[in-house]
Amino acid sequence: MSTITLTVFLINGDFEVHTAGCRDIARTVKSGRVGNRFNIKVGDAGLDPTEYAVIADLWSDIISENVPETYSTEAKAVASYADNTKFYDCVKVLEPLGKPKAKTGQKLGTGPKAAVSQPMGSGNRETPKPSVKQAAKRDLATAVVMAAAAVAKDPGAYGLDLADISQDEAAKMVAQWLHHLPVNRDNWPAALPKPDRSDWR
Ligand SMILES: [Zn+2]
Repeated sequence: MSTITLTVFLINGDFEVHTAGCRDIARTVKSGRVGNRFNIKVGDAGLDPTEYAVIADLWSDIISENVPETYSTEAKAVASYADNTKFYDCVKVLEPLGKPKAKTGQKLGTGPKAAVSQPMGSGNRETPKPSVKQAAKRDLATAVVMAAAAVAKDPGAYGLDLADISQDEAAKMVAQWLHHLPVNRDNWPAALPKPDRSDWR
């Protein structure tokens, strides 16, 4: 295939992906929701033309931080961040993430997960021991979540006036923003709802 340019928006912490030139791009820019905008290339001179490759690229920093601590494999991390990566209908060139490959009899959407649950090689599923630095990282992330929970619980104490945002809404927002931190989930603060994500339920 040739090389195709995709336009990516970062909006409220999620990526939204269009084919460059799509009419919705101007509409999205006009909406004022856009935090960041950039182009990526897929095809011959770019990423593999799959949703997997694009998600892995867009979230590469966070994924590398969280594998294997939060997600045992890159594939599991990519499946999780698919929730935060929206491919619009104009993006037709990419092989969908949930598309079953070759094997028949699999339900749609279970492809990658099913593949993940089967170890690629035999017996190389060992989980590396977390290093001291990884443990420190997790402690730091957990402390950040605790601090955020304190703010969400009592915004007034931090000089904030959240106007129409209720305390429940604020806590929910904060939880959604922070779900990707490499926290110890057992210590997720009660003041924050659990992030509403398939891998957290
Ligand atoms: Zn589009």
